[in-house]
Amino acid sequence: MQITIVGGGFGGVKAALELSKNKKSQITLISDKPYFQYYPALFGTATGYSHLESWVPLGQIFAGRDNVNVVIDSITTINKAEQVVTGTSGIHYPYHTLILALGSVTTYFGIEGLDQYAYGIKSEDEISELKQHLFDEFSRPNGADKNFLVVGAGPTGVELSSALGTYLTHLKKHYRQPQPRISISLIEAAPRVLPRMSEKASSLVTARLKSLGVHVELGKKVEAETVDSLIVSGKPIKSHTVIWTSGVANNPFFGANANQFTLSKNGKVVVDNYLRADQNIYVIGDNAATQFSGLAQTALRDGVFVARHILKKSKAKYVPKMPPVVVPVGANWAIFEYKKLRFTGLIGSLIRKAADVVGYSDVLPFGQALGVWHAQTIREDDSVIAKDVRKK
Ligand SMILES: Cc1cc2nc3c(=O)[nH]c(=O)nc-3n(C[C@H](O)[C@H](O)[C@H](O)COP(=O)(O)OP(=O)(O)OC[C@H]3O[C@@H](n4cnc5c(N)ncnc54)[C@H](O)[C@@H]3O)c2cc1C
Repeated sequence: MQITIVGGGFGGVKAALELSKNKKSQITLISDKPYFQYYPALFGTATGYSHLESWVPLGQIFAGRDNVNVVIDSITTINKAEQVVTGTSGIHYPYHTLILALGSVTTYFGIEGLDQYAYGIKSEDEISELKQHLFDEFSRPNGADKNFLVVGAGPTGVELSSALGTYLTHLKKHYRQPQPRISISLIEAAPRVLPRMSEKASSLVTARLKSLGVHVELGKKVEAETVDSLIVSGKPIKSHTVIWTSGVANNPFFGANANQFTLSKNGKVVVDNYLRADQNIYVIGDNAATQFSGLAQTALRDGVFVARHILKKSKAKYVPKMPPVVVPVGANWAIFEYKKLRFTGLIGSLIRKAADVVGYSDVLPFGQALGVWHAQTIREDDSVIAKDVRKK
């Protein structure tokens, strides 16, 4: 049985691992990067911890799986009539059964200046750009930025803003920067942080952020960014360091091939009860218009579901399932919520650490997963991964 998978992230890798257990399967996994990106750890790498926790080579994941062929290419078009996808390399990849798991991309909602001046932490390049900028700021003889602004109080914005203070203090010492005051603000348009969690969770996390010295600015709309300011609800805030964690949109592949799919209002692909967009095309993870799409655990679950369906091990219909959520807020403190269960503080933090071990062992043998997980505790020589990729 020949299966082509596009996307080497949570959904694509999990589907390939499950499918490869059947020795009759021949899997081609096409991804635009040679590594699997563990998004939940990116805020850690962006604030000085090891890059090993964020990027796991696909070669390591599929070592010993002879029926998985990993190809690095960026797929741009699909021709359903001819059953072929085509990459930027110009190579055509014919498929028999296709799984699309391309993930999502950042969007700035057309807000002026963000594209040019804001930083992000969604990829290796974005993190390198941000860190290079921070090194530049802290090595300026006339002082670093006073205001560091994180936009978007979803899990990523909360995790990042809560870890940023410790990192900036470390840089300040390292560069012997006399800057007396560093201010970190978390700016959110909604009336509360973590709007997808309960109101109680929002108030606990707001209090925790404030105790860490983060200014939480709610109900504030970002209107534009200039070379030295962010315009928020009509007022400029002086800053060279705006980190945008807010907008996410479906992968542009689907908009570019819109005539081949039915897209929902938010641009995701409408799928049937088996996550199919067509008889032999499955769409999973962030790309599918399912209820809990947008979470790593949903993508992993989707990968397992489609593998079982393809291998005819299950005829059960797909049932969306709300995964538990656990968000770290500074060192040794996290909030965990699942249905009516809630834990905060050290217990929440231990749950998060356990969840990360489970997350890595979803794609790696347990021993290797523990090794990668351990990297979360290693502070890295920042210059090692900083590339010269200045944005402005
Ligand atoms: C900073 C951040 C932190 C997050 N933290 C959490 C968290 O703590 N918990 C949680 O549940 N979720 C979290 N998420 C969301 C989670 O990461 C996604 O829901 C999950 O990655 C979706 O899996 P996926 O397989 O659909 O896409 P991805 O994991 O994004 O994989 C898509 C893959 O496709 C590749 N690709 C893209 N375009 C092409 C192309 N044209 N051709 C070939 N390959 C392509 C990409 O390089 C990537 O390898 C976070 C997201 C971000 C951005």
